[in-house]
Amino acid sequence: MFRKILIANRGEIACRIIRTAKRLGVGTVAVYSDADAQARHVLMADEAVHIGPAPVRDSYLVAERIIAAARLTGAEAIHPGYGFLSENAGFARACAEAGIVFIGPPPAAIEAMGLKGAAKALMEKAKVPVVPGYHGDDQTPELLAKEAERIGYPVLIKAVAGGGGKGMRRVDTAQDFAAALAGAKREAANAFGDDKVLLEKYLVKPRHIEIQVFADAKGNAVHLFERDCSVQRRHQKVLEEAPAPDMSSQMRQAMGAAAVAAAKAIGYVGAGTVEFIADVSEGLRADRFYFMEMNTRLQVEHPVTEMITGQDLVEWQLRVAGGEELPLRQEQLTISGHAVEARVYAEDPVRNFLPSVGVLHRLRSPAENAHVRVDTGVSEGDAVTPYYDPMIAKLIVWDTDRKSALRRLRQALGEYQIAGVATNTAFLIALAGHPAFVEGDLDTGFIERFRSDLIPQQTPAPVSVLALAALAVTLERRAQAAAMSVGDPWSPWSAVNGWRMNDVGWDELIFKDRDTDIACRIEYVGADAVRLRVQDKEVLVQGTLEADGTLDAALDGRRMKIGIVRQGDDLTILLPGETHKLTLVDPRVVSAIDEGAGGQLNAPMPGKVVQVLVAEGAKVEKGQALMILEAMKMEHTISAPGRGVVAKINFQAGDQVTEGVSLLSIEGED
Ligand code: ADP
Repeated sequence: MFRKILIANRGEIACRIIRTAKRLGVGTVAVYSDADAQARHVLMADEAVHIGPAPVRDSYLVAERIIAAARLTGAEAIHPGYGFLSENAGFARACAEAGIVFIGPPPAAIEAMGLKGAAKALMEKAKVPVVPGYHGDDQTPELLAKEAERIGYPVLIKAVAGGGGKGMRRVDTAQDFAAALAGAKREAANAFGDDKVLLEKYLVKPRHIEIQVFADAKGNAVHLFERDCSVQRRHQKVLEEAPAPDMSSQMRQAMGAAAVAAAKAIGYVGAGTVEFIADVSEGLRADRFYFMEMNTRLQVEHPVTEMITGQDLVEWQLRVAGGEELPLRQEQLTISGHAVEARVYAEDPVRNFLPSVGVLHRLRSPAENAHVRVDTGVSEGDAVTPYYDPMIAKLIVWDTDRKSALRRLRQALGEYQIAGVATNTAFLIALAGHPAFVEGDLDTGFIERFRSDLIPQQTPAPVSVLALAALAVTLERRAQAAAMSVGDPWSPWSAVNGWRMNDVGWDELIFKDRDTDIACRIEYVGADAVRLRVQDKEVLVQGTLEADGTLDAALDGRRMKIGIVRQGDDLTILLPGETHKLTLVDPRVVSAIDEGAGGQLNAPMPGKVVQVLVAEGAKVEKGQALMILEAMKMEHTISAPGRGVVAKINFQAGDQVTEGVSLLSIEGED
């Protein structure tokens, strides 16, 4: 076993690798960019080395810096995680040249699977079933059109160098072929610098089923069964499970044998995944699965395999890379129960899954136990930045059968409390509970087909939520007042906001719910309770605000613990599986701004200044657009909070800004 390894990655996968290394007594070295100086993986590792600025091409993708970091710290091996340099044969070679073990397959095996066309030809030779199609060198449009005809429409054009769904086109009729081919080639040339394509029969009802394989350098190879990753959105996996629903042992054996044959054909060593596509138009059939590609690394979804086999795949990787034999033989591996993984993302399903950046003001995860595992790379207070993948965590659950596992998944997802960014948890809960999904009626078109059932509705906050928010605001104000009036019973704070001891005072609170102002009448009934009246409804809510922002409340007698996060006037109310955002509108503050208020305007998130719309000295009106910031493919307009004069502009178009920096300042006008 190694004495010390370096992890050439970040986020949850770096943390996950460090966890196993620590358990095995192996020393760990993290690497980090400017944006990750305080990141969880850095804090977890024994040592950490800075490798450059935030953009990945300047840090996590710079092979020389990573190898230099390994040399500097005396790490004997490098684990590349997934993504970044994990499937880069050149990096694997450079490690070997530097005398460092690359924890992954031999460079030649990475290369053999690097191009889809060549990989398919190799697989055909190894008698692994491939999707009927054409993957020849002759790329003349006439020949390709003839091949498409032979395969039979619909066909799929794929870039041989492809990845991430780029350069891929479905063609339904011969008339559309020429235009689609030109489009796919153009996209492939742009994205990969290689416009070569292959053709495949397009399967109309496919399932994505992959096999985890493992091989050692002594000629042993096994598979650790399958994972079903059919629930995808734009070819990205959303939910993964093991075993695959309805899988017969005959089909499992056939797929496992094909995957092991694929690994052996390329002299594979280490962890790999052979991805297959299964035609399920007539159900799962052992003669209807086809090789798609092989990922020569650890996959994001490997934990579901660990949960059903009881094995630690990172431990296997370290042992095999260190020259040991595979820990188990095929006949010693068995499946126990069912595991499901959901990828919890900082993204907004309502806005077409746009990534959401910002500070995780609250991040409470479900409690981990024998049934629930959380793999994450962030902690409360960390930021989701535009530089890296906005995944917050992977939630993995296990139970004895699929339906129980899905119930646990919904339960655990409901325990998440996340404020500061939008998340897909409500979407995942809807997915995990969808009757068709629960029944195992799966294929890659599932999310699109049931889109309207799955995207959470934007409903106005119910009266109960307004009441909880009102109570939280009241309790907070009382706590502040109490703190300020200590020793001074006659302090004006004691009488703030209309409430008095032993009396039913009242006040009005205005909450903004998206674009609607809702005026609520609050009656103060006792020290820890309010009655909220809004329109013709009324609710009594009572409770205490705990130090960590948890509101322990009784709503018309019903007890609940919910999370309340307040950032300035913005309130996030976190109910199980449901999040509401309200803004407290303070009439006095609004009028003050209208009269002219100055101050700093800060960047709400890290991003790039796209345009500066005003000059220093310019007079501006309330709401006037001053600057445009781009973050995560989206533009954000910075506008004037009130009438005033632009005193100073701190950035120009093209400048990169970090969250919270002052962009410009305005002097209020009297
Ligand atoms: P990429 O490498 O660009 O991600 P893949 O070849 O892995 O492309 O395919 C991505 C996804 O596209 C698959 O998971 C599947 O959902 C779909 N797909 C691929 N090949 C076919 C096919 N022949 N018929 C139907 N869908 C396909």
